[in-house]
Formats: sequence, C-alpha cells, structure tokens
Amino acid sequence: MSTASVYDDLVGQEHIVEVLRRAVAATRSGEESQEMTHAWVFTGPPGSGRSSAAMAFAQALVCPKDGCASCNACRSVLNGAHPDVETIRTEGLSIKIDEVRELLARVAWAPSMGGWRVVVMEDADRLTESAANALLKAIEEPGNRTVWLLCAPTLHDVLPTIRSRCRHLQLVTPSTAAVAQVLQNRDGISAQMADFAARVSQGHIGRARYLANNESVRNTRTTIMKLPLTLKGISSAFAAAQSLVDLATDQANISAEERNQSEIDDLSLAYGKGATGRGMATGASKAIKELEKEQKTRSTRMVRDGLDAALLDIATFYRDVMMVQAGAHDALINKELENQITTYAAATKPHTTINKINAIMDARTNLGHNAAPLLTIEALMCVLAR
Ligand SMILES: [Zn+2]
Repeated sequence: MSTASVYDDLVGQEHIVEVLRRAVAATRSGEESQEMTHAWVFTGPPGSGRSSAAMAFAQALVCPKDGCASCNACRSVLNGAHPDVETIRTEGLSIKIDEVRELLARVAWAPSMGGWRVVVMEDADRLTESAANALLKAIEEPGNRTVWLLCAPTLHDVLPTIRSRCRHLQLVTPSTAAVAQVLQNRDGISAQMADFAARVSQGHIGRARYLANNESVRNTRTTIMKLPLTLKGISSAFAAAQSLVDLATDQANISAEERNQSEIDDLSLAYGKGATGRGMATGASKAIKELEKEQKTRSTRMVRDGLDAALLDIATFYRDVMMVQAGAHDALINKELENQITTYAAATKPHTTINKINAIMDARTNLGHNAAPLLTIEALMCVLAR
C-alpha cells in the first residue's frame, strides 16, 4: 500500500510520473543533471490530464516531501495561493502579448521560498505569435530558477521556436477500465455508474467524474445523444441545431451567472462601494465595464467549449453506428442506445456514416476558428439529416 502523492490522479500515465519523479529527485541533489530542465511541454488529448500532470509536477517541485499532496505547499498550489507557483488559465480565445508581459514582470522576482518558481500555462496553444515570442525570450534566459510548464493538445500546436526549447511529455488516453477503477476506489462511485461514466467519457477522467456526480449533466447528455435520432429532413435539422445551441448557452449561463456576480461584488468592494468622491466612482465603473467585457468573452468561449463537448458526444453515436455496420456490436460506447443504433445502422450506409463523422470534425474545427455557432451547427445538422 503506497501513501498518497500528487501523481495519484494521473491514471495510466506511469511513464510520465517516472520522468517527473526523477526530475524532482535530481533537483534535490543540487547538482546539474540531465533529468531536470527548466522548460517542459505536456501534450495529450483532452482529458488525458495534461494540466493535472503539470500541476502535480509544480506541487512536487515546491513540496518539502517531493509531492505529498497533503502539506501546506501542495495544497496552496492547487488553490492558486502558493507565492512561487503561477497558473495561467485562458478565459479568452487567445493569450495576448500584454498578458505575457504582465506575467514576465510578476515572475522576474526570485522565488520567495528559495526553491523554484513555477509557471503552469494551461493553453500554450492559444498564445498569439507575438506573445509566444515574448515568452521565448524568458524561457531562453539562462540561470534563473523559473520552471515553465506548458500544456497543449499536440506538439504541433506549440510554435516551433518554443517547442524546440522544451522537453516533451506525451500523455496517453487511459483505458475505460482504469478510469472506472479510479472512480470506484477513490470517489466511492458505484460500479455500474463508474462503468457508464468512464465509457461515455472515453478516458476523460475529469469529465467522467463530473458526469457520475451530476444528474443534470447526465440528463443533458441523454438529450444530446437523442438528437441524431430526431433528424428527419431539413426542418428537424434546424430545430436540432437550435436546441443544441440553447443547451450549450444555458449551461454556460448557469455556471457563469454566479461567478460573474461574485466577481463584480469583489471588485465593488475593492473600490469601496458607496464611497463618495468622483475619482473613486469613475475608476470603479471603468473597472466594472472592463470586467463585464472579460466576462462576455469568457461566456463566448464557454458556449463554444460546451458545443465542442456536445459534438464529441454526438460523434460517438455515429462512431457506434460505424462499429455496428462493420459487425462489431460488442464495443459500443453508447450501450444504452444499442437498439436505436442498430436500427439506424441498418437503415444507412457506411460511407454516409463516415461523411457524417467528418462533418462533425469539420464543424469543430470551424467553431475553433470563431465561426458563428448557430450557422455552423445548422449546416452540420443538415448533413447529419441526410
Ligand atoms: Zn507536499
């Protein structure tokens, strides 16, 4: 029986954990070593845990016990309260040069605890080119105690100048069985629910856990998964597109509303709500306007992310249809819909199934490039309705 560690949630990533453990051990010796380097890039499919891996490494670097998961240092890293660990999460569609400059100004100081200063950048693929170049200068700077941990879907998403200076760690998608096991053992989720959540989340542990713990999220997924079955002609395609966009918008609104209001309250408090004096009032209202603008950008991104997740779910329907058409009935992701999928598979041809899957992937790409959500989904649903 091993004790808890920051690496516990990295399901199926033993090869990465080994490299990180060796790197941390090397820093303890105080000598120059091949095992440790100051710039890393973590890649892997969504949900494989690339940012969890980067956070675990950050914790281990600043923890007096190499990542015990329970000490003050380990916990404060996760809460965003550790003075030497900076986490950059993007709310917008890109990370701009101003944000990188601000970050560089903040991390220019020596680490306060005397160890390492760690910067975790969760969406390094969203760096604009000028922002990436500013970052590059900092990464190349020799002799400082800053460790850069960049995360991106693939190495291809990181500018070549940056990735050539980083050590690359590639995470893999864990097996359904491994994810289900963790949900049962660590989260106390029933075997049946763990199997369902792990299967439909396809190795995405965070999503699996979220799904297993939230009935309303499961209900939304059920609604989404039934959309392909409603597609019978153009008007049903438009209706399906509208309900999908509405679902994504509602979900984004629910999670945004509470957060937005509490941010505005905090800001008003910082400016001294009810304070008299014109200067004070003008400053506050300007800051609140700016915050509202940021919140709007964030909502836009949340709707897009929600649509992307929904499209991935819908793609699993056609993937299952394709499996049945290929004669592989026993490997369905959506076992719950086996009857409907079998009927659908018998009524359609394999090459149209492949076209539909490709259309879904194209729609995701277009949404990623800022295409108008409703138009994109409408065009997609028209293809799926064929
Ligand atoms: Zn610790």
